Amino acid sequence: MDFEPEINPRYRKPTAPCPKCECHIKHGEMECYHCGYELTVDDIRTLKQYMRKQWFHGMWICLKIIPIAIILFALYFSLFE
Ligand SMILES: [Zn+2]
Repeated sequence: MDFEPEINPRYRKPTAPCPKCECHIKHGEMECYHCGYELTVDDIRTLKQYMRKQWFHGMWICLKIIPIAIILFALYFSLFE
């Protein structure tokens, strides 16, 4: 059985696609546990850049969601007061 113990993907370790099989590799792994591909220094650098982009992307989504939530709350209270 292969299942994810973590429920919320936001709390998972950052992952990046393997250069060979494109399965996700966790941060800190030295080789792909899907196809056994050993990561080179250049691969790790690329993966780290990808993970950082993903992290910034997540932060950007959070920054966009907070004002939308505030507006929705404001609308909700102005309609039902
Ligand atoms: Zn792989």
